[in-house]
Amino acid sequence: MTTTPDRTLLARLTTSCEIHLPGDPGYDAARIPWNTAVDQRPAAVAIPRSVAEVQDVVRAAAATGLRVAPQSTGHGAAALGEGSLADVVLLRLSGLTGVTVDPGAGTARVLGGTLWRDVVGAAAQHGRAVLHGSAPDVAVAGFVLGGGLSFYGRRHGLAANSVTAIEVVTADGTLVRATAEQDRDLLWALRGGGGNLGVVVAIEIGLLPYADVFAGMLLWDRERAGDVVPAWVEWTRTAPESATTSLRVMSFPPIPELPPFLSGRDIVVIDGAVLESDETAAELLAPLRALEPELDTFGRIPATAVLDMHMDPPEPSPAVADHAVLGPLDAAGVAAFLAQVGPGTTSGLTFAELRQLGGAFARPDAAGGALSHVPGSYALFCVAMAPTPQAAVAGRAAAFSVVRALSAWSQTGLVPTFTETRVDTSRFYDGDDWSALCRVRDAVDPGRLFVANHGL
Ligand SMILES: Cc1cc2nc3c(=O)[nH]c(=O)nc-3n(C[C@H](O)[C@H](O)[C@H](O)COP(=O)(O)OP(=O)(O)OC[C@H]3O[C@@H](n4cnc5c(N)ncnc54)[C@H](O)[C@@H]3O)c2cc1C
Repeated sequence: MTTTPDRTLLARLTTSCEIHLPGDPGYDAARIPWNTAVDQRPAAVAIPRSVAEVQDVVRAAAATGLRVAPQSTGHGAAALGEGSLADVVLLRLSGLTGVTVDPGAGTARVLGGTLWRDVVGAAAQHGRAVLHGSAPDVAVAGFVLGGGLSFYGRRHGLAANSVTAIEVVTADGTLVRATAEQDRDLLWALRGGGGNLGVVVAIEIGLLPYADVFAGMLLWDRERAGDVVPAWVEWTRTAPESATTSLRVMSFPPIPELPPFLSGRDIVVIDGAVLESDETAAELLAPLRALEPELDTFGRIPATAVLDMHMDPPEPSPAVADHAVLGPLDAAGVAAFLAQVGPGTTSGLTFAELRQLGGAFARPDAAGGALSHVPGSYALFCVAMAPTPQAAVAGRAAAFSVVRALSAWSQTGLVPTFTETRVDTSRFYDGDDWSALCRVRDAVDPGRLFVANHGL
């Protein structure tokens, strides 16, 4: 690319697409990601409402010497925001949404910027579920392109493995439909390769046969963490693949917007789904219920209600985070975790989470993509609210402190969707898969037009 970036020319070349340039009245609102701690300042923000407009923006950016960063919601904006976006068009997919469910084929076709909330709702109308994550307003695209850990995942694997076709606008502006039959390498690469290969404008995912599931949460005061954390870790050693759970130690400020059971409190929460009959699920949960939680919402609920279970923030929020994948935790590992976030500590974190891995999460899927499994026992995810730059610095230090304290139990691998900093991306993949992924990227985007939050 030898041309000088020309933002005004970009706006002229993309005559129909909504474009915001720095200084325009709409620029600031358009550039703010879901994670409002991230101050992304691109050369332009484009909000296409059709595939043709996406193609237009990609071609115009290439012609004007700019690069393109696809973004759906900005939940995963943190790593992108670490670099300069001065020569980058932020291509936001929020104007390209929609879901079509084909119950006969057992699939849903989802447009590029669609949120899980809409897909879960549409699938539920046909008595089906999908491999969504904890938050309703995360987009399908960023989630599945980064693997995707669902509360159904220990039985059904990474969400990326449920993808059967992806429609993507590549660096020359061509629309390609990648399936197992055509452009197979591209489908393989996209499933785990993130936004490095093009702008995803549609994804086909498989449906699961659940209209309702046994799911919910158990809640204790943090004073009980010394009993609850070791008991849950012990429980996870033998829990069947039908159960996918998370344990979080959480701290909430005393604010009236929160319900009394959260406001001003430090708590321990175990939540998740158990894909069994009510009787079997109750038997499985008995050792955890024996710890007498003050709140127990586990029971059979509609698949749509699983989106409310994890208490994720309902609005865009400023947050910083750190992450590691842990192997099995022994008593010393549990003690190290509790020393950081257990009773009597002031970690400064909003939560420290151990997300249960193993089961189908850990098994390579021969029909899957570049990222088809995550070896390990737990995904550690530490998050702090960061309403100011000073709070962000303190929050990053607090999150890193927990990750460092658990380093003796850490593995080298990382989960892309839980990684909020720039890292060596070969850590996401097995063996030669990173090199193979780079080869596909070099073939489809030799000029490195696309900028992903996790660049290859
Ligand atoms: C509250 C909350 C809850 C979460 N829960 C879970 C969970 O349960 N399980 C889990 O695995 N993760 C979870 N995550 C992490 C989340 O899945 C990732 O941040 C994911 O990348 C978000 O996808 P997005 O498209 O919404 O975000 P974005 O920031 O828009 O996208 C992230 C990256 O994906 C790529 N991308 C996005 N859309 C496109 C597209 N249309 N075409 C090409 N590339 C694209 C880009 O490289 C982009 O930088 C959670 C995050 C938050 C903040």
